[in-house]
Amino acid sequence: MLPIVAIVGRPNVGKSTLFNRIVEERISITDDLPGVTRDRIYSKATWLNREFRLIDTGGIELTDAPFLTEIKAQAEIAINEADVIIFTVDAKDGLLPGDRDVMAMLYNSNKPIIIAVNKVDNPKYQEAIYDFYEFGATHVINISSVHGTGIGDLLDEVVKHF
Ligand code: GDP
Ligand code: MG
Repeated sequence: MLPIVAIVGRPNVGKSTLFNRIVEERISITDDLPGVTRDRIYSKATWLNREFRLIDTGGIELTDAPFLTEIKAQAEIAINEADVIIFTVDAKDGLLPGDRDVMAMLYNSNKPIIIAVNKVDNPKYQEAIYDFYEFGATHVINISSVHGTGIGDLLDEVVKHF
């Protein structure tokens, strides 16, 4: 069984962009499974010769479900299936109540949680990282999924926990 890495986070933080960035540019895709929405949400991948499955939990859409139901479903997948959780947040927005809702659901897991502070396209957003230390995650790292910065460092940290 390959290790499973789940990307979670409230809408619009950049989960799908991160998923695509990892899959398309930084690691070789060796297999695909059909997703349940238009977005591809599963991919088999490798980093530093370590194979894993990546899941974009935000791509699992529940029609008309309220926000908390939606993120609860995401968190349950991550808690039940994942070996490592990438909790994605948005440096431009800073810490919002929706981030606390996600974290509250992840607290019960004994899984390594790596917070990826996304949208750090510019050094002026780097300090947003300090907002997120209070969550007590395993690791917190700045990334830009659009520019590709920090993705290698993020994956280095992910594979340490396999
Ligand atoms: P999701 O709802 O969490 O899957 O978020 P998406 O991946 O759909 O991204 C939401 C929006 O944020 C889109 O407009 C993305 O282009 C944008 N976005 C994602 N990553 C970055 C980033 O690193 N920098 C910037 N500036 N925008 C980003
Ligand atoms: Mg998405």
